[in-house]
Amino acid sequence: MSTPKRKIKGIVDNFDACGRCERRGLKRTVALMPLDADGNEDGTAEDVAYHGTSCATAALRWTQGKVTDTARTAQNFGLRLLRIPQVSTL
Ligand SMILES: [Zn+2]
Repeated sequence: MSTPKRKIKGIVDNFDACGRCERRGLKRTVALMPLDADGNEDGTAEDVAYHGTSCATAALRWTQGKVTDTARTAQNFGLRLLRIPQVSTL
């Protein structure tokens, strides 16, 4: 079984629940966009998953520093598109 690939879109503060472990009350979450087999974004804002930073780190098998750095970079560059409130919050 292969883990679905994800790409970090940014860190958001308008979701406080982790979509992986369902913990709530997080200060911020990492927005993860699914990727298709070719590495292209495979979904819309509704398909974005929000994970706490530690869960995003585990899901991607990255270091926490890489996650936050990548998220910060992504954030400077198009995150506004993700500010859509209807994404499911478990
Ligand atoms: Zn979590």
